[in-house]
Amino acid sequence: MAFSDDVRHELARVIPSARCCRVAELSAFYELSGFLLGRQNQFLDFNTSFPFVARKILLMLTGLYPDLPTQVLMKRSRSRRSQVCTVRVLGRANAGQVYQDFRDQSVLEDGGVPRKKCCRRAYLRGAFLASGSITNPERTYHLEFSTEQSRLADKILATILSLDLDAGITQRKGSLVVYMKDGGQIASLLSLMGAHSALLHFENVRVLKEMRNQVNRLVNCETANVDKTVQAALAQLEDIELIDSVIGLEELPPKLRDVARLRREHPYASLQELGELMTPKLSKSGINYRLRKIREKARQLDKLDPKH
Ligand SMILES: [Zn+2]
Repeated sequence: MAFSDDVRHELARVIPSARCCRVAELSAFYELSGFLLGRQNQFLDFNTSFPFVARKILLMLTGLYPDLPTQVLMKRSRSRRSQVCTVRVLGRANAGQVYQDFRDQSVLEDGGVPRKKCCRRAYLRGAFLASGSITNPERTYHLEFSTEQSRLADKILATILSLDLDAGITQRKGSLVVYMKDGGQIASLLSLMGAHSALLHFENVRVLKEMRNQVNRLVNCETANVDKTVQAALAQLEDIELIDSVIGLEELPPKLRDVARLRREHPYASLQELGELMTPKLSKSGINYRLRKIREKARQLDKLDPKH
């Protein structure tokens, strides 16, 4: 099952206990996929293509308004590939009451963001159930809410920002998409919305990925160093061969000759290792100095000898 479905299933099982949060979460559904219908606003609908989400809406509604007359309708969509479940509040007065609760200015800030933090979390949970999706973390970190109404995209964005998280907004095929790309931020949002098992999986994947990256960085770094060492050793061996073929290593001053012979015997040794093989031992910079002198000698001979 896709990770997005896991998150949706988990969030559908979270029923907030506080009245304020239930209203906030239902209002997200209503705003993102609901309608006031009929000639005189005779009903108020919540639409979803997921029966388990419809069940949650019904549970929260009847918990909030025990005597509310409701109806659940199932329809195949035109493409017949998916179904639409509608939870309908019947009666003009009832629809009006629920609608008024959603718009209650005493619980909302400017821009419609819920005043209380608990309700902001509930609102985003409802928004995710209505219009959210998340990519499998194995692939990439991406969570989004999409809506055709710019007012709602702004509201979702403002709510996310009000929880000290960061999100961006972009357009795709006539819809506005509020998105998050940062793994840590997405993890925080999953936690705030109450998707705790999904969060656990998300964080496990993140830890594994981070470890793999670190290992790769180390391997790359080591390979680069090894390459450098090998290349330097190859250049030194060329210098030594040149000197040997033109004048013979015996002609080198003894200090240089010893290092040249040692390098030939140990082509893969690091400078430090070469230093330790010398008697008496020599520091890395001492070896380096002598190899530079060998290089200078080789350069001189290279200029003199027309064969090279
Ligand atoms: Zn609340």
